[in-house]
Amino acid sequence: MSLPPSIRVLERGWLSSNNVLIDDGEGCALIDSGYHAHAAQTLQLLQHALSSRPLTRLINTHCHSDHMGGNAAVQRNYNCRTSIPVGEAPAIAAWDDATLMLSYTGQSAERFAYDDTIAAGDKLQLGGLEWEALAAPGHDPHALMFYAPAARILISGDALWENGFGLIFQELFGQTGGYTDTRATLVAISRLQVDTVIPGHGAPFGNIERALATAFQRLDAYERDPAKLARHALKVMLSFSLMIEGRMALAGLPQFLADRPIYAEVNRRFLRLPEADLREYLVRDLERAGALKLEHGWLVAA
Ligand SMILES: [Zn+2]
Repeated sequence: MSLPPSIRVLERGWLSSNNVLIDDGEGCALIDSGYHAHAAQTLQLLQHALSSRPLTRLINTHCHSDHMGGNAAVQRNYNCRTSIPVGEAPAIAAWDDATLMLSYTGQSAERFAYDDTIAAGDKLQLGGLEWEALAAPGHDPHALMFYAPAARILISGDALWENGFGLIFQELFGQTGGYTDTRATLVAISRLQVDTVIPGHGAPFGNIERALATAFQRLDAYERDPAKLARHALKVMLSFSLMIEGRMALAGLPQFLADRPIYAEVNRRFLRLPEADLREYLVRDLERAGALKLEHGWLVAA
């Protein structure tokens, strides 16, 4: 995938979002900082990629733990202005655990402060290109994407990946509108002139038509059968936690799930499985998908 030399994508995994560095000649901007447990690795990658250039700006596509968890560590190491989507500002300013879904999902992030906010329609000058901030509700109602029309590049965050998009939390929480928002965001993307998408997770990709077709198909399937979204969400959550922990005792799984309200709530709302059946389903399906291994009573991240 050809990107201008001013743009460098530090491709991470699923626990940490990608970090996108955009070089201005005078200083660099970083888009998204990864998960806080990976902060040391993020700083190392950054230091290496920046070499002697200063990091002057930190921008988030949205404020989920895997995108903003490293913000505080980055701020401690660099004198950078931090800009977040305007809709995320109240939750970040108050460090509102419930809205940030931290305890709820068993994730964590280090508290940080921001300097200013970005709203849909705002124009940013980064790396010699003009970027437009675009609303990307769906996965997160306040998420933004960044679009450089001259270079035909879209930084999509979790609104579009090569093979899907981020969980539609609104619907999981029993609030409507998430599917409609996701569809509107995908339609908005389909109207852009894009040669390269830099997603929040996974490698940059060029075949946006195929990615959009996959995304619409997935969205249709969730809308037809919301239990599909629910099952996928709980597997993503457990697999995310396993990536944090590395391994966990199978015997401890009941308590582990009980400590994170998302499992019981989503189960009650969509699946209505007895707890033991839910555990059995999650473990077997993640094992089948190659996301975990069962070793002598331990669940091990694969
Ligand atoms: Zn996200």
